Amino acid sequence: MKAAPEAQRRLLDLQALDTALAQLAHRRRSLPELAEIETVAREISALEDERVRAQVAVDDLDRDIARFEKDIDQVRTRKTRDQARLDAGGSVREIEGLQHELATLNRRQNELEDAELELMEQRETAEQTLNDVKGRLAAAGERRAAAEARRDEAYADIGKEEEFKSSSRGPLVADLPADLVTLYDKIRLESGLGAALFRSGRCGGCRIELYGADLARVKAAAADDVVRCEECRRIMVRTAESGL
Ligand SMILES: [Zn+2]
Repeated sequence: MKAAPEAQRRLLDLQALDTALAQLAHRRRSLPELAEIETVAREISALEDERVRAQVAVDDLDRDIARFEKDIDQVRTRKTRDQARLDAGGSVREIEGLQHELATLNRRQNELEDAELELMEQRETAEQTLNDVKGRLAAAGERRAAAEARRDEAYADIGKEEEFKSSSRGPLVADLPADLVTLYDKIRLESGLGAALFRSGRCGGCRIELYGADLARVKAAAADDVVRCEECRRIMVRTAESGL
């Protein structure tokens, strides 16, 4: 392939642009915020499970406490009824019977109230656990939002730079011979680098040093010959810096 030396030299500008674009794309993919967001998301998911478990524990205790409340109410009702009957008077046997029942009901009420108190203490602990999980969830949510904001800021910066680089790529490509750009793009898409400066006897793409007949071949090539590296097949661009 033939191409004007100036066109070949401008391939290096195009390559610099494409390298910068590839670096921006890489930066976009490997932002530290992405790993951070993923880590926090896993943390949040685990905390959500923990929150559900803590809520279930509180709800279970609430249900048990409500059941005790109902039982205690029933005992109180029976006590009031017995007391009213006792106040109304009756035979000695009846009074003894009611007094015995009242004593039993009092014991029962004490037992129920002690058990309820224990459950209420458990509920307090369970609620503390729940609030603790909610607090950690809120903190993790804030960390995620902050990381997302930093990520979006970085995306916006990268986007701006990409737009800037891309906008100069079009006019540059339009100035170059189409077949040269096609060849360059084909090589670049395979290896990331389509053209590189030939300097100090080395291919700028794979850094291989040329000797003897290989170096002579490059030296002997016409200025408008598109010379490619035998090793990596990239376009070796010769400029005044090449030292040929
Ligand atoms: Zn090479």
